[in-house]
Amino acid sequence: MTTCPRQIGLGYARPVPVRATKRGDQRTPLAGEYDVLICGASFAGLAVARELAGTDARILVLDRYEIGERQTSACAAPTEWLVNLGLASSMRQTFRDLVIHTPHETVRMRLPWTFSTFDYRELCGLLWEQSGTAEFETATVERRRRTADGGRRISVATDRGELSAPLVVDALGWKRVLDGNAYQPPAAPLSRGLEVHPWGASDELEIWIDRDYVPAGYGWSFPARDEVRVGVGSFDPRHHVKEPTVRLAADLDREAVRYQGNWIPHKLRDATAHDVFFAGDSAGHCLPLTAEGIRTALYFGLACGRELRGVVEGRATREQALRRYHAFSAAHEWKFRWMLRTQRTVPRVPPRLLAAALRWPLSNDAFVGWSFRHYLNVAPPSFAGEAPAAAPVVPTAA
Ligand SMILES: Cc1cc2nc3c(=O)[nH]c(=O)nc-3n(C[C@H](O)[C@H](O)[C@H](O)COP(=O)(O)OP(=O)(O)OC[C@H]3O[C@@H](n4cnc5c(N)ncnc54)[C@H](O)[C@@H]3O)c2cc1C
Repeated sequence: MTTCPRQIGLGYARPVPVRATKRGDQRTPLAGEYDVLICGASFAGLAVARELAGTDARILVLDRYEIGERQTSACAAPTEWLVNLGLASSMRQTFRDLVIHTPHETVRMRLPWTFSTFDYRELCGLLWEQSGTAEFETATVERRRRTADGGRRISVATDRGELSAPLVVDALGWKRVLDGNAYQPPAAPLSRGLEVHPWGASDELEIWIDRDYVPAGYGWSFPARDEVRVGVGSFDPRHHVKEPTVRLAADLDREAVRYQGNWIPHKLRDATAHDVFFAGDSAGHCLPLTAEGIRTALYFGLACGRELRGVVEGRATREQALRRYHAFSAAHEWKFRWMLRTQRTVPRVPPRLLAAALRWPLSNDAFVGWSFRHYLNVAPPSFAGEAPAAAPVVPTAA
């Protein structure tokens, strides 16, 4: 791996890797044994790595792209989360109000906390800076393999060779590659989202709940200083979102350029399987109804990293860490279930009734304050500042 001291215009203190593995024949082989293998270098994977900084563990982070190379979302998250994680300098714009458009009216909601849009590459670079001596390689993760040592080490096959570690994290997104289970749209519980990133500016964070754009889902316009991220998300994976995204952009007088889209899980899955830890979209940690998955990927990534830290520091066994992390994630199940129920109910309500049903709560500051505080507490920003989880001191099996 080679590194460059600065990424253009970003000024990271810690070098961000640049592509050392060339394409085709020039791709160099990769093999080795590590203490921790973190597969996926986006929100969840980098949050795990950050929690392991300062340990003696040999940690390898893998991604098919360079860190921050491919933006995976509209990049809006609660400001307090970004500030508490020391990521404030990546923020582009902060919003206190959310403007909701329905076919019948427009409501401006004053939120009890703010949302900020941020620059993906810069945020990932800042998280990487916090991850100590972890190493990084670009490689495509293909599958988990059995090892001949009775399961102590887990082997991960990549397009560049095989790697192994006793502690392995899948933060690879919705495909959940290391589980090996086929989880394919449109049958799987996945939403789909697509957005364009035209240059331009706006002061408003806006969403559209309008069946003319999407029968079940919503459209958005998230400004980020000099670009506006305009997109449409459908809770129904069979519903294509390209045409409505282009149409929404046209209605807003924005150019449909620089596309970015993906499937978005809307159902929580087990956070551990086959002795592997899953965090972020790979565990279905994206919230149903709002499709907000950044802060939850960070939240569960931190929780996972804290459990792994207990193992590498000899305070817990891998099995204890797996159990504790599994239980931590599962304890949130009822909140995800309620949000999924609401996601399924909203599209069934006739538009006029929905507009009437939304009018009072959305324009009532006390109700908005109460509900949004509850919503924030599903993955509270204070978690970013909490100490690593205390685990019983037992010899490590890893
Ligand atoms: C259009 C759109 C807009 C969105 N906007 C928002 C938003 O504004 N706010 C919000 O909170 N959420 C948003 N979301 C949801 C959010 O993007 C996800 O929930 C979040 O990115 C999950 O983070 P993650 O780290 O789990 O996975 P990801 O961010 O998907 O990262 C997975 C990583 O794994 C890598 N990877 C995948 N497969 C392999 C492989 N086989 N080998 C090696 N590497 C691999 C990828 O390159 C990537 O770096 C949006 C989603 C979409 C589709």
